[in-house]
Amino acid sequence: MPGNDDAARRLVEQARREREERERGYRERALKLFPHVCGRCGREFEGRRLKELTVHHRNGDHDFNPPDGSNWELLCKNLPY
Ligand SMILES: [Zn+2]
Repeated sequence: MPGNDDAARRLVEQARREREERERGYRERALKLFPHVCGRCGREFEGRRLKELTVHHRNGDHDFNPPDGSNWELLCKNLPY
C-alpha cells in the first residue's frame, strides 16, 4: 500500500535526522569539554584536522551522554580501537 510506504519512509527519515542532530550535539559538547587530543595515542588535532577526531562512547551506548562527559573519549577516527 503506497500510503503505508510513505509513512514508513517518513519515519525512517525522521529517525535518521534525529540521530544526526543528536550526534552533532554530543560531538560539540565533547570537543568543548576535552582537549583535542586522542585518548589512546596522544595525537593532537587542530583546525581542519579536528574532523579526524571522533567521539567514542565508553560503554558503547550512543544514547548515553551524561553532561560531565564521563561516557566520552576522543579518539583518532581512522584507527581500529
Ligand atoms: Zn589515536
